[in-house]
Amino acid sequence: MADTMIRGMAANKQVRFFACNSTDTVEKARITHHTSPVVTNALGRLLTGGVLMGAMCKNDTDKLTLRIQCQGPISGMLVTADANGHVKGYVSEPEVMLPANDVAKAVDLGVLSVIKDIGLKEPYVGDTHLVSGEIAEDLTYYFATSDQIPSSVALGVLFNDDTSVANAGGFIIQLMPFTSDEVIEKLENKIREIASVTEMLEQGMTPEQILEEILGDFGLEISDKIPAAFECDCSKERVSRAISTLSKKDLDSIINDGEAIEVKCQFCNKAYHFDVDELKEMCSAK
Ligand code: ZN
Repeated sequence: MADTMIRGMAANKQVRFFACNSTDTVEKARITHHTSPVVTNALGRLLTGGVLMGAMCKNDTDKLTLRIQCQGPISGMLVTADANGHVKGYVSEPEVMLPANDVAKAVDLGVLSVIKDIGLKEPYVGDTHLVSGEIAEDLTYYFATSDQIPSSVALGVLFNDDTSVANAGGFIIQLMPFTSDEVIEKLENKIREIASVTEMLEQGMTPEQILEEILGDFGLEISDKIPAAFECDCSKERVSRAISTLSKKDLDSIINDGEAIEVKCQFCNKAYHFDVDELKEMCSAK
């Protein structure tokens, strides 16, 4: 079953929600970056958060980036998503060896940056410190402090015995500014009593079933259901633009080596080749 993302409202539009399963997305990231289980878990949670937060973008061309810079052995992760379920990401240290669920230990203290590119000259950047390194709690804290939106964020990744991804997914439920105290209290109680998202994923529950479980009593209205996937939009042209940002001196030194170079896309590891003539052309354009 391909990954899907759903969004909608509940309780007469007093609550909005986003939920997805991201099993194939996270498995593709694992294969692409050869990640160890704990890294698959951490990056998988961030990718899932990216799919959900990407869906909050207002325009089709908007991009949302989640960047974590941290003291833990993972060192850093970056995920970029759009409004249409496409997400890509990478991690600085893919081979951290810790138990699969020790995400907080692998990440540790650090900063979460939420970068919203809505086509203006400068993207909007919101920084918050990590509160636990568990990712979901860190995103909850970001929403509370940066956007002042009370949110419930749950993200989970489960593994098969061979360390491939068995199940991944999550949800974000947010209160609108005008949500009544009655709805808030009822929802808080509900969220306290439900099973964890990992348990729900383990039972094979779909995003719809998970939301039905939480918001079923609140009048659930699903407005969209779209496919989600790990997808990279890199191209030779884009990579060559990145090479062009090197200084003339650096480019000259590569050219003087007289050999074609291979540049890999950080997000998907696709290799692009540039021969000396192409490099000379880039250099002369400077
Ligand atoms: Zn790529």
